[in-house]
Amino acid sequence: MSNRPDLPPEIANRRTFAIIAHPDAGKTTLTEKFLLYGGAIQMAGQVRAKGEARRTRSDFMKMEQDRGISVSASAMSFDYGQFRFNLVDTPGHSDFSEDTYRTLTAVDTAVMVIDGAKGVESQTRKLFEVCRLRDLPIVTFCNKMDREARDTFEIIDEIQENLAIDVSPASWPIGSGREFLGCYDILNDRLELMDRADRNKIAESIEISGLDDPKLAEHVPAEMLAQLKEELEMARELLPAFDRERFLEGSMTPIWFGSAINSFGVRELMNGIGAYGPQPQPQKAAERVVLPEEKPVTGFVFKVQANMDPKHRDRVAFVRLASGHFERGMKLLHVRTKKPMAISNPVLFLAADRELAEEAWAGDIIGIPNHGQLRIGDALTEGETLRFTGIPSFAPELLQSVRSSDPMKAKHLEKALMQFAEEGAAKVFKPMIGSGFIVGVVGALQFEVLASRIEIEYGIPVRFEASQFTSARWLSGPKDKVEAFVNTNKQHISQDHDGDMVYLTRLQWDIDRVTRDHPELKLTATKEMM
Ligand code: GDP
Repeated sequence: MSNRPDLPPEIANRRTFAIIAHPDAGKTTLTEKFLLYGGAIQMAGQVRAKGEARRTRSDFMKMEQDRGISVSASAMSFDYGQFRFNLVDTPGHSDFSEDTYRTLTAVDTAVMVIDGAKGVESQTRKLFEVCRLRDLPIVTFCNKMDREARDTFEIIDEIQENLAIDVSPASWPIGSGREFLGCYDILNDRLELMDRADRNKIAESIEISGLDDPKLAEHVPAEMLAQLKEELEMARELLPAFDRERFLEGSMTPIWFGSAINSFGVRELMNGIGAYGPQPQPQKAAERVVLPEEKPVTGFVFKVQANMDPKHRDRVAFVRLASGHFERGMKLLHVRTKKPMAISNPVLFLAADRELAEEAWAGDIIGIPNHGQLRIGDALTEGETLRFTGIPSFAPELLQSVRSSDPMKAKHLEKALMQFAEEGAAKVFKPMIGSGFIVGVVGALQFEVLASRIEIEYGIPVRFEASQFTSARWLSGPKDKVEAFVNTNKQHISQDHDGDMVYLTRLQWDIDRVTRDHPELKLTATKEMM
């Protein structure tokens, strides 16, 4: 990863990122403040209010609320100074790591939010590991500094040790809890003072010329100032200075301290993302690496969401543009089906509202409404055959059979399940023998989410039950061999939503036996998305 001075400004000024956090660390609050500063909404709190309005329409969100998890991911775009920020929301719960992983394939940076009193929590670590797999640059925001927080060095040490990444302080907190005054902005030599009275007010910022500037003493009580100076001196000795190259390659994270709810520290964080990047990065395809400034438009689908608006039974495919300058109405090649697609009503997600996108550049996320043609991993190009790599499909680890208590609704249930399979929310298997479906997921909570969505979006009450199978393997090989195998093993065979053959069993022994006795067949735990 690196920043390139030669990119056209439209691309160079794009920042596409996701926020990763343990539940409750302040991701939602920080998102609201980003949007507030981005001028996308008038008043913080509206994201939540809008979210709630939506929830009443689509009640599966209620589960989200009850459990404090975020099930649906979306993308939001807003302008900040010369920058266009694209914030891709990640689902927060560990059960949705598959979705999260895919989301992180569409961004260039992750903002890691940690709670100043709690430090690195279990979910922070998991999400961080996913970022690490992709060497994503990470910006850290230590939140809730208005409350009693841990010692600053302790927090930094914990991150360094737990996550094996160097941490460089971009700001330094002055006092904590009730005594928290604000931060010293190390990168810009400024004093940032928090205003507790007005949560939506941007903090007062005072320019300082070094730590000996007498202005400091006008704003910071003597004792705190002495401590600040001492700590900053220690920090300079003990902690690495910010190194942009190391940040871009993912081995160093700058940390800002603040309080999202008090709108404090957020602007400095945003300035940091703007100033240090990264810009839209090259994307890998099987054939070659695609550079953002290439003229032809290319992009890939990293997420499909259905029923975003229950009034329209549409799906929206979220596309990360890898290169080019996209304009509404363009005809793009849908590489998987080799068919042209006129992209006449693409959507940009401006704040919480959807808006028609007239144009978009490499790095942007656009939504393309469709009726199921676009699937996760699909590439769109101006004619070139490209397969973007790096979007994984995870092995379903838990299988359950699903039944509707109303047998008249079997067809409807099938439709609902197929849709979730296309969204990538679950793997769905239709056994060759018997009726009903088997659903495979990565985390147990997904069954509950699915049951809830099927009931709310399709009006079908369903039950998930233990299945006789526990493992699924996709079958491939010469067509006649696969057919012969299928015909003699019907009780184990099912089809996924693409009609591909899947071998189901509850015994590893079975899988070993098939592998041994049928060397011409390939059994795989995951299916390539492309
Ligand atoms: P999420 O689960 O990560 O999205 O977290 P939320 O943004 O919903 O915040 C969780 C809780 O922490 C909410 O009650 C927030 O009001 C609160 N919170 C968020 N930021 C701050 C902060 O800076 N200071 C304090 N004291 N509370 C905060």
